[in-house]
Amino acid sequence: MAGVTIDKVRRSYGALTVLKDVSLDVQPGEFAVLLGPSGCGKSTLLASIAGLDDLQSGRILFDGEDVTDYEPAERNIGMVFQSYALYPNMTVRQNMSFGLEVAKTPKAEIVERVQWAAQLLQIEPLLDRKPSQLSGGQRQRIAIGRALVRKADLFLFDEPLSNLDAKLRTEMRVEIKNLHQKLGVTFIYVTHDQVEAMTLATRIAVMHGGVIEQYASPDEVYNRPASLFVADFVGSPP
Ligand code: ADP
Ligand code: MG
Repeated sequence: MAGVTIDKVRRSYGALTVLKDVSLDVQPGEFAVLLGPSGCGKSTLLASIAGLDDLQSGRILFDGEDVTDYEPAERNIGMVFQSYALYPNMTVRQNMSFGLEVAKTPKAEIVERVQWAAQLLQIEPLLDRKPSQLSGGQRQRIAIGRALVRKADLFLFDEPLSNLDAKLRTEMRVEIKNLHQKLGVTFIYVTHDQVEAMTLATRIAVMHGGVIEQYASPDEVYNRPASLFVADFVGSPP
């Protein structure tokens, strides 16, 4: 399991400061949701946890270890994004194996991990198909499978369901929640959807203009909002 500490992280693009000394402590095994309107800095914060973006200042720690200068590959993270860029010419099995092959994981281990992830996500019948032969929901499941095979203890999700229709989104939400319970690892999940945040999170970080306005349980965020913005954004009762 990995606890994540974000310590006064600052990120600017020219004159625009996107993350304003953001600090956040995510406990091991937590399902933390970063919730906020478009443009508030959610993806930038997630990218900084993954090491995909350089910081102006601040630190990222995993289980107390400073990983700020680690490359993304050295951080052992599973990542799932909104656009599930599967390789169109590869089968599902090849898509799921590819990253492990690049990392020179032994072949038997790759087979075992793909089998494990496929079973967990119930995609075994799809392993020999090409992405073009899959529905949107199935593709998103493969994208999750591709992250799972890394056997990471931290998974990052950036709006993974926003390309799906409403019915599928609700189904996948339940699956992701179950997955978190089965794996017992840390999830950090970005969304602008209040309902998604409320149903998934153990704790919600409500972001606004590069600042975390509140980090608390869904119940607390809803019933005891820390600011007018939080109350307004999550639709708290007046
Ligand atoms: P969110 O994921 O909450 O929608 P982002 O983290 O993607 O927000 O973006 C936060 C702000 O940073 C936005 O105003 C966006 O336009 C700006 N931004 C993001 N990436 C870049 C970039 N590469 N260059 C310049 N501005 C960027
Ligand atoms: Mg984003």
